[in-house]
Amino acid sequence: MSVLDGRFGLITGVANRRSIAWAVAQQLARDGARLALTYQGERLGENVRELAAELDGPLLLPMDVTSDAQMSEAFATVQREFGALDFILHGAAFAPREELSRPFVETSRDGFRIALDVSAYSLIAMARHAAPLMAPRGGGSIVTLTYLGSERVFTNYNVMGVAKAALEASVRYLAADLGPQGIRVNAISAGPIRTLAASGISGFSNILQVYRERSPLRRNVELDEVASAGRFLLGPESSAITGEVILVDAGFHAMGI
Ligand code: NAP
Repeated sequence: MSVLDGRFGLITGVANRRSIAWAVAQQLARDGARLALTYQGERLGENVRELAAELDGPLLLPMDVTSDAQMSEAFATVQREFGALDFILHGAAFAPREELSRPFVETSRDGFRIALDVSAYSLIAMARHAAPLMAPRGGGSIVTLTYLGSERVFTNYNVMGVAKAALEASVRYLAADLGPQGIRVNAISAGPIRTLAASGISGFSNILQVYRERSPLRRNVELDEVASAGRFLLGPESSAITGEVILVDAGFHAMGI
């Protein structure tokens, strides 16, 4: 019997095979969890459908995280099909491309609103929908993905850094709100990995190189290493950890000069 046998989870943020959320989904499925994968639009639905064929009968649900209606519908389907929920991986993030290349001081009102809505508010909305589904299980685990750009300045990360700061603060407030129901909320702050989202950040190759040169482990992180941390935080082994941001970045965050 695997450690997650009989557990139900919902995963957002699978765009393709390089997605961090896909790496986490694979590990959770291998451990026996039954999954619902959400996708933003029909075009990517095709991608997700192909990947889903590699798992054991996951639910596939359209869910643009900026749409209250789609979110309600997705959670209603999970309720109908699974009856309950044990964990959520929140891996959705977005900022308009132009906000990730021009000076931060030029951030537009709309760009700010969109980045914060997709990348931070969506965690709050999803947690609100998930809580009643976790109640019959006596609790659950919610994990989101963040980046050190929330605390330090990385060239061109810009408004996404502000969104990640809001996301990490939301992790703590949600942990406080939902802890009495046995629901834990944590974040993984991953080192840079070449994904679709990362390709929108100008100069991303340079960030990868600086991590390789300066992190204590002198290398970049692998998708599977971030996924293992996700599996740990979403599963029962991390039962006393909540309100935490765990850095999986080859130690880069610890360095000064
Ligand atoms: P990714 O594969 O591009 O995943 C990002 C996901 O967010 C995509 O599935 C994307 O779907 C989804 N998304 C964007 N807008 C959405 C919306 N309105 N509704 C629903 N989903 C939406 O890239 P990733 O690097 O794995 O990103 C996953 C998470 O890890 C993000 O929070 C990212 O900030 C974080 N992270 C990444 C790195 C890195 O270096 N790669 C480092 C630290 C943290 P669409 O493609 O359909 O837009």
